[in-house]
Amino acid sequence: MGEFELIERYFKRPVTRNALGIGDDCALLSPAPGMQLAVSCDMLVEGNHFLSTVDPCKLGHKALAVNLSDLAACGARPLAFTLALAMPVADEAWLAPFSRGLFALADEHRCELVGGDTTRGPLNICITVFGEVPQGQALLRSGARAGEDIYVSGTLGDARLALEVFRGTLSVPAEVFEAARSRMEQPTPRVALGQALLGIASSAIDVSDGLLGDLGHILQQSQVGARVDTDIAAGLMGAPAGSLAADLRLEYVLAGGDDYELLFTAPPARRDAVKAAALAAGTPVTRIGQIEAEPGLRLMSGAGRLIDRRFASFDHFA
Ligand code: ADP
Ligand code: MG
Repeated sequence: MGEFELIERYFKRPVTRNALGIGDDCALLSPAPGMQLAVSCDMLVEGNHFLSTVDPCKLGHKALAVNLSDLAACGARPLAFTLALAMPVADEAWLAPFSRGLFALADEHRCELVGGDTTRGPLNICITVFGEVPQGQALLRSGARAGEDIYVSGTLGDARLALEVFRGTLSVPAEVFEAARSRMEQPTPRVALGQALLGIASSAIDVSDGLLGDLGHILQQSQVGARVDTDIAAGLMGAPAGSLAADLRLEYVLAGGDDYELLFTAPPARRDAVKAAALAAGTPVTRIGQIEAEPGLRLMSGAGRLIDRRFASFDHFA
């Protein structure tokens, strides 16, 4: 199977929302009038972002999910994506399930594959997504103000739990592992929530490197500080209490990584609006702390005790 046959067989489908898809030198996108194009790119490298043993169907899902998560964090509606793929051999037993997992999530979000590049090399998947958001309304990292609430969607820490089980540093009951593993291998991008928060949230980011590290980006770009309630945060893990030690639980929730939840801020006057947005999107959100004028990040137990512990977030070059 040659390069073009491969593209034809596994990646070419008629586009319906865009002017032109796969097969020409460029794809042509048509964002609606009054909309800004939101663009993001994420690369997945074998051994680094995923285990070589992962089910290719789940990998197809995840490669797009992590990109859709960035659109969600801006409140953008997905439009299209491109796929740059390097692989050692044209293995149909890998390509078929990979494209199935990829298109299943793409269809769910009406996000069309409009182009890409295919080459021989170590397995590497790079997707660029394009979305649209009303002019000037995208959720940014720089909009948090002192006195605002901090929220996070869904659950945190389970992907890291699964990774540690794979690494052999942790052992948990089989059903706990399976639930965590699906969070790691098939994260749910919070696309509907991001759009529902337009005009309500003052800042947002998606949690990919760990809650505290990603909150740090909001704090830095908004030039504010924050306090986070660690008791509330510790309750955000999907894995049942008792399935792992309390200190590990807190570490995975605060600095686990690979969560793809939305972390955002909103004024206290908008609490009802945040609740309504979460309900409309079908995604639970939890208020975990508050933005403060004083720079820095303070971890407090529910009883108001300051927690003096450091958590390192994920850094490829650290
Ligand atoms: P070019 O010569 O411009 O680099 P290619 O020969 O690489 O174009 O690709 C031919 C067409 O197939 C282009 O429209 C390109 O966008 C598309 N394409 C290539 N690889 C992929 C892929 N993995 N997924 C989707 N479209 C692809
Ligand atoms: Mg090319």
